[in-house]
Amino acid sequence: MIGPAWDRAAPRVSATDGHERDRLAAAARHAATHLEVRGVVCVACTFVDNSGITRMKGVPVGRLDAAVVWGIGASPVFDAFGVDDSITAGRFAGGPVGDLRLHPDLDRLTALAAQPGWAWAPVDRRDQTGAPHPQDARDLVRVEAVRLAGRGLRVAMAFEIEWAVAPAGADGFVPAARGPAYGMTRVAELGDYLRDVVTALTEEGLVVEQIHPEYAAGQFEVSVAAQDPLGAADTCVLVKETVRAVSGRHGLRASFAPKVLADGVGNGGHVHLSLWGDGESDGGDGVTGSGAIGSSGYGAGPGPAGATALGATALGATALGATALGATAPGGWNGGGRDNLLGGGHGPGGLTATGEAFAAGILARLPALMALGAPSVASYLRLVPSQWAGAYACWGLENREAALRLIPGPPAAAGRAANLEIKCFDLAANPYLVAAGLLAAGHAGLDDEARLPPPVDVDPASLDPAERARRGIARLPTDLGAAVAAFTADDVLRRACGPALHDTVASVRRAEIDRFADADPAAVVAATRWRY
Ligand code: GLU
Ligand code: MG
Repeated sequence: MIGPAWDRAAPRVSATDGHERDRLAAAARHAATHLEVRGVVCVACTFVDNSGITRMKGVPVGRLDAAVVWGIGASPVFDAFGVDDSITAGRFAGGPVGDLRLHPDLDRLTALAAQPGWAWAPVDRRDQTGAPHPQDARDLVRVEAVRLAGRGLRVAMAFEIEWAVAPAGADGFVPAARGPAYGMTRVAELGDYLRDVVTALTEEGLVVEQIHPEYAAGQFEVSVAAQDPLGAADTCVLVKETVRAVSGRHGLRASFAPKVLADGVGNGGHVHLSLWGDGESDGGDGVTGSGAIGSSGYGAGPGPAGATALGATALGATALGATALGATAPGGWNGGGRDNLLGGGHGPGGLTATGEAFAAGILARLPALMALGAPSVASYLRLVPSQWAGAYACWGLENREAALRLIPGPPAAAGRAANLEIKCFDLAANPYLVAAGLLAAGHAGLDDEARLPPPVDVDPASLDPAERARRGIARLPTDLGAAVAAFTADDVLRRACGPALHDTVASVRRAEIDRFADADPAAVVAATRWRY
């Protein structure tokens, strides 16, 4: 049985282990049989590049076993791809030489509900010997989760997906729904579409917690239940591609770009996370996460995640889509930890000492993490004060203008629903880099026994500059160059990424800065609106 991500740091395919190859091939053929029954012809095998674009190679379903065992050939040049498909030759990426193998992960093999005939699986990128590619962000998430598990800690995570829809067929942006923000009118306008989004995600085995019209014109948001970090990053990819496909079937075009118009509120990609372990919490009254808590909108609180999608037993069920739900474990997903260390403690906002250190590690490194979570020039057009994007490097209880927002959850849940929301990130990000970066930053906070500054309980923009300075509240980087400077100076993220990936990420970012050096905001938005 294949365990959750933290139990499989080592590559599961050894080029020399014939027995393991046979086992995997048999599992792949079994899954393929289920897919064929559902009319699946092709499997889209995806990874996300460093500029945040999901790239793919497809295999006919009959070739899935060979793909799983031997991998699909792909150039390492993708590490150096930019948002405009240009290639940046960096020190560690961008050359024409070399070959990687893309190994679809059967744990996440899913029939795509809105693309009949297609299934999807995220890939692990390995070299010819089966060793992880040093620049594979998906492997990085696994490594960081395993490191935390070594301390007896698990993270539950979920990405909030915001997007805006326009009628298909034009490159400009005209909102396809004209009703007010959060208004029921938008459901009258696009109710069939929104229903089909929920149906498709549910058929794919995901647990939808919420869907609603967002603030900006034509904008919507969907939240799904928390999972382990690798599962959450995979799910981020699946949700985006499913929303995109359902949109197409309704004559709509979905934009996940940080900004769809130069003015106004953008699309965020907020990350919710909670930290689980044994001991230290004063909670533990036996309250488990429930559908009620999850669906009440506590984001990455311990909702009923599709945890079974992580296990080999889910293989058949996941391939069957909706039936995967039947196999989903009831109760909350907490990675096996008993206590949520973000609640029930004696620290600020009910944090335990461990929870506070983890949060403080993230807060301290937010400027550097921006190079991963707000990775495009367009990201900084979104990241402006007083638009709920979290433009200030501070934390607060339930404060939507703080980049780091602690959501303690209802007192009756005794801290078990507590979670942190990182608001400054957007969906131009590679979710694997985001997940890995957050784990590494939080872990560094544990190593340092870091402490949080006092929480901020107002919109920092409403304070005069002297008061902000007195409280130590700084703006996050206001352009990509500043974020890259913080990232390149950050030893924790360099160690986590490894020198090659760290260097490549910085090179790809610098190339994008050069690409848009003379572009005004409208031109940046136009060039990136439909890319992510
Ligand atoms: N759309 C806002 C953003 O750019 C977030 C709105 C919200 O708080 O959900 O992040
Ligand atoms: Mg939102």
